[in-house]
Amino acid sequence: MEKTVCNKNFLVKTLVELVQIPSLSGKEEKIAEKVAETLKTFGYQPKIDEYYNVVAEIGSGKTILLNAHLDHVPPVGNWKINPYSGKIVNGKVYGVGASDNKSGVSAMLEIARILSENKPRKGRVIFLFTSREESGGDEARKVLVGKVKADAGICLDHHINTKKRVAELTVGCKGIGNFEVEVYGKSYHSSEPEKAVNAIYKAAKLVDAVQKLKLPKIKKPVKEKALLNVTKINTDGWATRIPDLCRLTLNYRAPPKEDKTKAEKRIGGFIKRTLKKDFKVVKFVYRQGYLLNLKNPIVKAAEKSAKSLGFKPKISIAKGWVDAATLTNQLKIPTICMGPTTPGQAHVENEYEEIQNLVWGTELALKTVLNYLSL
Ligand SMILES: [Zn+2]
Repeated sequence: MEKTVCNKNFLVKTLVELVQIPSLSGKEEKIAEKVAETLKTFGYQPKIDEYYNVVAEIGSGKTILLNAHLDHVPPVGNWKINPYSGKIVNGKVYGVGASDNKSGVSAMLEIARILSENKPRKGRVIFLFTSREESGGDEARKVLVGKVKADAGICLDHHINTKKRVAELTVGCKGIGNFEVEVYGKSYHSSEPEKAVNAIYKAAKLVDAVQKLKLPKIKKPVKEKALLNVTKINTDGWATRIPDLCRLTLNYRAPPKEDKTKAEKRIGGFIKRTLKKDFKVVKFVYRQGYLLNLKNPIVKAAEKSAKSLGFKPKISIAKGWVDAATLTNQLKIPTICMGPTTPGQAHVENEYEEIQNLVWGTELALKTVLNYLSL
């Protein structure tokens, strides 16, 4: 491994200690205290809010925000190693949240340590450790609106591939919407179906149409497509009764910039055209995605930093939801997602973080911070 500014020993020690502190969503008190204590030893004055978000800062002027989340999903499945052990085997730190996202928390603490020793000549860095990311986190983010302000952000809840020297830079994600639809028929005893209207058969038309629906393609900055899937279907009928009600959930992954009204029009309109009558969209919840302009200084700084460290920058749009969308849309901070997590290690049993990814992901984020502030 080439020489890095980051201290590998500090990073690994910190990650192991963090993994050993259970921090399920809504139960981040202990880890928030640990993070705050660590920051204090570097001379920061961290604040912990009622949701256990931790915020600290250094410097003044143009501001960049760093973010990672403190919580992890429950350690379900077949674990061969104690999920809270932080055991190191073959260059990997094992444990629940080791990659998603305690690697990011460790990276931020290491960057905080370095900057406390070598304060950036210009600019300000905010460290935001968030709670409740895995459980949706809406209320825990709302308290930050108006309080946390920055010109750009880096969300460290994303992966890097050190073996292949590829740094994925995620500049957006799709929106996500759930439509709950009720389809109505007429019930009757199943021995005389001619006297009934089967709500399932009517709903089946929609199921069929969903699979044939053409949705908009995303061409820039990378090819992606909007998606619509039927993810739930049920009735509360009996085996011998033709059901008069069928409920379906349609999960929609929208183009990054599509707003709620447009999504409702597109998918709501499609449902209406398909079923025509005897149905109702009873619930529609939506979270808008986001997409940064590739000319945005944070994207430029990240690309430049990746190249200077010998990594190939790969611009992408996240397939799933990323919390950077919340930071970008609600906090109005254009946020990019990058290392140091390990590919394929989020929400899996026997989760691990490769130490080389931890080191290089941290190095990349640090370099991006410095490059951005010197622009
Ligand atoms: Zn995560």
